[in-house]
Amino acid sequence: MQSPFDESENISLVEFIQRYPDEQSAIDFLERERWSDGVACPHCDSPRTTHLPKYNRHQCNACRKQFTVRTGTVFYNSRIPLHKWLYAMFLLHISRKGISSCQLAREIGVTQKSAWFMLQRIRESMDPGLEVLSGEIEIDETYVGGLEKNKHANRKLRREWKKGRQTVLGMRERDRDRIILRPIPNGLKSTIANDILMSIAKGSTVYSDESSSYAYVSLWYHHRTVNHQKGEYVRGRVTTNSIESVWAILKRAHKGIYHQWSHKHGYRYYNEIAYRLTEGSSDIPIMRRIRKLARRSFHVQLTYRELTGRTSPNVELVTENA
Ligand SMILES: [Zn+2]
Repeated sequence: MQSPFDESENISLVEFIQRYPDEQSAIDFLERERWSDGVACPHCDSPRTTHLPKYNRHQCNACRKQFTVRTGTVFYNSRIPLHKWLYAMFLLHISRKGISSCQLAREIGVTQKSAWFMLQRIRESMDPGLEVLSGEIEIDETYVGGLEKNKHANRKLRREWKKGRQTVLGMRERDRDRIILRPIPNGLKSTIANDILMSIAKGSTVYSDESSSYAYVSLWYHHRTVNHQKGEYVRGRVTTNSIESVWAILKRAHKGIYHQWSHKHGYRYYNEIAYRLTEGSSDIPIMRRIRKLARRSFHVQLTYRELTGRTSPNVELVTENA
């Protein structure tokens, strides 16, 4: 399975479409990424498989099950051709603020519902998983949603604003410039503590403001704070300016591109924003970034039912016999 292309290089969208013009070229690309050491059965891991060219499938000689490169991945149960999935990944990388399902639908010729579903699945692949930050880390919180004008209004409207918003915790590692964003249900301090413990290596140095949410941080980390209330934003290395710059990007995406999202799906949008800032640097050739995301997508499955709690005949889905 040799590729005629150097897949670590920078290419334009036009070249990308010329390279992967159809389902077969996309299958070849994904099979090379998934099975670089030879095809292995996704059901039982056996390397003893037979290719069935007539059906474009593989058969496992151990468990006898059939499979394709889609089996067990984000592409599973989708009727959308694989090259369109690759275009969606490409567009998500090159659009600096993200891409709406309406725009993606127009660009690649699928329904808006299908585009929404594709984007949610791709965002799921962008989850940082068990990634742990270390060294010097800035942390901060922001709120998404809720009418901003109610924020400073009377008590009743303020209550409404609090109800309609979602708290987001942001963590940014300085050394490798890696970012993790997590929604905090009901803004609970215990959830914030848990997410920090899961995402930051013990013994790291953590910079924050003086919010009471972080009172316990000094138990596990070297904790330094700036006092925003006294107008202090930078004191030597102690600052939260770089995680705060992420909030401007988050809010532009929320208002400008996605026109709000529901709290239920919020974490996937935060995944996407953190992913693009962390992995999306244009210094890294686009093909290398796409290959990395494709490899992540092999471990993620998300059904329409899981996403929405209902089945939808309107989405271009098909049951794959594998
Ligand atoms: Zn098998």
